[in-house]
Amino acid sequence: MNQPDFTAPPRSRSLRIGTPFWAETPNISAPCLAAPSQRGWDVIIVGTGIGGALLAEALTRKKQRVLLLDRRQPLRGSTLASTAMIQHEIDVPLHRLARQIGAKDAGRAWRRSARAVEDLLALTAELKIDCRMERKQALYLAGDDMGHRAMMMEAEARHQAGIAADYLDAAALQQRFGIDRTGAILSDISASANPAQLAAGLLAVAQARGAEIVSPAEVTDIMEFSDGVALALADGKILSAGAVVFCTGYEFLPAMQSARHRIASTWALVSEAGLKLPDWMDQMLVWEAANPYLYFRTAPGGRIVAGGEDVGDATLYTDAAVMRRKAKAIAEKLRKLTGIRIDKPAYVWAAAFGETSDGLPIIGAVPGMNRVQTVMGFGGNGITYAMIAAQVVAATLDGSTDPDADLFAYR
Ligand SMILES: Cc1cc2nc3c(=O)[nH]c(=O)nc-3n(C[C@H](O)[C@H](O)[C@H](O)COP(=O)(O)OP(=O)(O)OC[C@H]3O[C@@H](n4cnc5c(N)ncnc54)[C@H](O)[C@@H]3O)c2cc1C
Repeated sequence: MNQPDFTAPPRSRSLRIGTPFWAETPNISAPCLAAPSQRGWDVIIVGTGIGGALLAEALTRKKQRVLLLDRRQPLRGSTLASTAMIQHEIDVPLHRLARQIGAKDAGRAWRRSARAVEDLLALTAELKIDCRMERKQALYLAGDDMGHRAMMMEAEARHQAGIAADYLDAAALQQRFGIDRTGAILSDISASANPAQLAAGLLAVAQARGAEIVSPAEVTDIMEFSDGVALALADGKILSAGAVVFCTGYEFLPAMQSARHRIASTWALVSEAGLKLPDWMDQMLVWEAANPYLYFRTAPGGRIVAGGEDVGDATLYTDAAVMRRKAKAIAEKLRKLTGIRIDKPAYVWAAAFGETSDGLPIIGAVPGMNRVQTVMGFGGNGITYAMIAAQVVAATLDGSTDPDADLFAYR
């Protein structure tokens, strides 16, 4: 038996304030139990957001017996707050990531990200999940962080890595999109969806294959043995399984802390329905190389979903007055860029946001443990990275190694 590894209770915080748009859409929950109906689980997944949902689908597909636990009702974590721009474009531009981890690995990470978006589109179609999953293009605008020269360099780096990207100069950008910036990159392989309906649909598939969800169930402690893992719950119960995967988003046990991972604050809004929007906008995700950045996309019924204004403060999002100021700032930036006015947003929310210094997620065995995996550090690519995590962890638990697992290992 390995040395028991006891840890302190998990960090607890409210993950968001305000009302996310998706909270008022249908089909965003999953039935759950007060206690598991049986014992002897192959895998316990802690967390029922998009990370836990995609992993539960992947593992039950391989006939694993899966139990999911959540301290909240299913799907009431950060996934409900996501603006769900599903992009292969990583927050850290490829030419910069290449400086940090080398061109070969950076290219591999970007290609894997592109593959994950395609895989998610295919999975959603295969499982017929009704979540308004739509293939989109993405327009990445030059801003105060990257001007047109850096944008050209970025487009070239992507070509070198085998990732399609069209550089648009200021005139082309103005002519096609009416946007006044010094340059932009237009790319394919993006999508958007209702993130809560997506995760709920995946959980339903996993449950139909025998997975169970227990909620509320707060994990406070882990103990690893040579043949399994025991989890202590806040109510004193103990549950065990062959392996455990923490898909707990921006809350994590101290054992899972990494110097590369930090929690920031972010803000988002959704307009009233019925805005008059340019024809191209429904097919596009738009974001900018600026700090702080603005990003936006449309939602059904002529709405705009916009967000950004991120700051590296782990708790600022809990301040309601700051949320109102940030919503105004987002709306004002959007007006300046596109002429679209959002005088009174229909939905405004603020949330925690976990990111890593290289923009890549942390996926893999927790240091000192073999049977405890974690996935975190998702940044602006949370949904894409959750897809990669499901693939990497499912391979590990199957006894094989995903060819890109080394890119995301604990660091
Ligand atoms: C405002 C905002 C906008 C975003 N926009 C985008 C975007 O456009 N595109 C994109 O790809 N990503 C985006 N993201 C990121 C993405 O939404 C997240 O990375 C993703 O939803 C995280 O999913 P998750 O399943 O890891 O976490 P969560 O959805 O938070 O699920 C984790 C679950 O674990 C549970 N849990 C935690 N600790 C414990 C414990 N000890 N015991 C039991 N249960 C526990 C929680 O209750 C929670 O339900 C955005 C995030 C925010 C906040």
